Amino acid sequence: MAVRLNEDQEMVKLIREGLKKTGGYCPCRTERTEENKCICKEFREQIADSGFTGYCHCMLYYKA
Ligand code: SF4
Repeated sequence: MAVRLNEDQEMVKLIREGLKKTGGYCPCRTERTEENKCICKEFREQIADSGFTGYCHCMLYYKA
């Protein structure tokens, strides 16, 4: 299992700018909750899930 940034550097830049604006909350979600703080609960669960491969919801990270 390995988690890396999206290979698309423009996408990484965009999402990071979004995170800066929200103060660390997922820029792809409207609710400002603990669950949606990056790294969000959804992606933490996907990291823990041995059957999951792919991008996080915002496509900032990729889990191989
Ligand atoms: S979807 Fe990705 S960028 Fe958005 S909070 Fe979760 S881990 Fe961070």
